[in-house]
Amino acid sequence: MIPDAILDKISDIVGARHLITDQDAMHEYGSDATKLEFRPDAVVFPGNSREVSDIMRLATSAFFPVVPRGAGSGMSGGALPVMGGLVMSMDRFNRILEIDQSNLICKVEPGVITAHLQEAVEKVDLFYPPDPASLNISTIGGNVAECAGGLRAVKYGVTRDYVLGLTVVLPTGEIIKTGVETMKGVAGYDLTRLITGSEGTLAVITSITLRLVPKPTHKKTMLAFFRDVSGAVQAVSIIIRSKIVPAVLELMDRYCLDSVREEMTYPVPVEAGAMLLIEVDGDALNVERDAEKIRDLCYGGSALGFESASDSEESERIWEARRNVSPSLNKLSPDKISEDIVVPRSRMVELIAFLEEAGRRYGLQVPAFGHAGDGNIHVNILFDREKPGDEENARILVKELLRHVILLGGTITGEHGIGITKAPYLDMELSAAGIDLMSRIKKAFDPAGILNPGKIFHAG
Ligand SMILES: Cc1cc2nc3c(=O)[nH]c(=O)nc-3n(C[C@H](O)[C@H](O)[C@H](O)COP(=O)(O)OP(=O)(O)OC[C@H]3O[C@@H](n4cnc5c(N)ncnc54)[C@H](O)[C@@H]3O)c2cc1C
Repeated sequence: MIPDAILDKISDIVGARHLITDQDAMHEYGSDATKLEFRPDAVVFPGNSREVSDIMRLATSAFFPVVPRGAGSGMSGGALPVMGGLVMSMDRFNRILEIDQSNLICKVEPGVITAHLQEAVEKVDLFYPPDPASLNISTIGGNVAECAGGLRAVKYGVTRDYVLGLTVVLPTGEIIKTGVETMKGVAGYDLTRLITGSEGTLAVITSITLRLVPKPTHKKTMLAFFRDVSGAVQAVSIIIRSKIVPAVLELMDRYCLDSVREEMTYPVPVEAGAMLLIEVDGDALNVERDAEKIRDLCYGGSALGFESASDSEESERIWEARRNVSPSLNKLSPDKISEDIVVPRSRMVELIAFLEEAGRRYGLQVPAFGHAGDGNIHVNILFDREKPGDEENARILVKELLRHVILLGGTITGEHGIGITKAPYLDMELSAAGIDLMSRIKKAFDPAGILNPGKIFHAG
């Protein structure tokens, strides 16, 4: 527990109304999208880098854990106070500081909601492409800390591809700027890239400079239905091989399709066991040309049906259904293990064959959906904790899956991060020497080990 005398000092730094110690209010700040829960001792809401710095200095000298928190939508437990201590909510860092149209960059505070930033830049015909499906709730700071991907990653890349520079507070209290505000810059080690995706374990991010691109003038949203996932995944390969790079190329298998079927604006063929959501963007001519070509490629493959949204409202309803897939799967089973593995796009057919075979072997439902265009598939292993052996089988299946993914040349997490849920498996992918180097980097940033302890590196 953080002693009262230390809590008094924290209260002096931020002001009493920006510190919560009431245990009844802790629940909200002790859980995230993993649904796991750990109680912090207190929650602080600093308002500027100086306050963060003072708190970090205090934490390093008095030796208590500090856990940075955005919106708590993380899927690997990154924001959970697994060792108690202080949750540092970035809620008050909620300003878009500048949208610089001359240099196509913007500066934002980490607590800005991803969708709010996108709306703001789009008002001046600029575009911030990274779009995690959680964009209506997630914060930009959480996106940078996790190096969030999203649906448009297939064409536009992920968060790290847009982060030019950061202001961060080190666990020892120093405030430093990393990176640049220019399009180029190679002075020293690339600390920006190191901190991006470091899951809140190296530094607290207090300001972010992002690269923007011109907003595409046109886009078209399409749906293609297939008898099974293999057919859909083969169509993905055909599209990619044809040298068209859609902005979005998303897969839903039968389970996922069924879970959002009622929300779909289009009749879904009864025999459809998989769907691709495809979006192309660019200028009017390119969009029409690519959309037609994709339609031909899908029908040339094994598509049962193909639909195009006729206006932005129809397109938005399709998107809504896609964003609801993950929450809707909870209706199928309250118990699930979610993995976000990635395989080379050319190996997706093998991955799908493995999932079908392993699901059958263990008698478990294994819904899969996600970013097929970049090989990042969200695999959900459903189980019933009341049924003897079910949960154990699910955990064995997870290990088999991750081993198989690595054999296929993939990675155990594409965008959700290691956090606590994937920590036991990190050594499947990385060598002991690689993990050791990472833990020495962590120590160089955080000698007292007080910033977000218990994450990434597995204790036992
Ligand atoms: C329905 C749903 C769909 C999702 N879809 C996607 C998707 O398509 N792509 C994807 O990548 N993710 C997705 N996610 C996961 C999640 O939304 C992302 O990981 C997101 O980036 C987390 O942002 P957050 O603000 O909620 O961060 P939190 O969950 O609060 O924190 C995440 C991590 O960031 C750290 N952190 C937060 N702010 C800071 C800061 N200022 N400085 C230092 N560290 C900080 C925390 O300590 C923690 O380790 C989804 C989640 C849900 C629930």
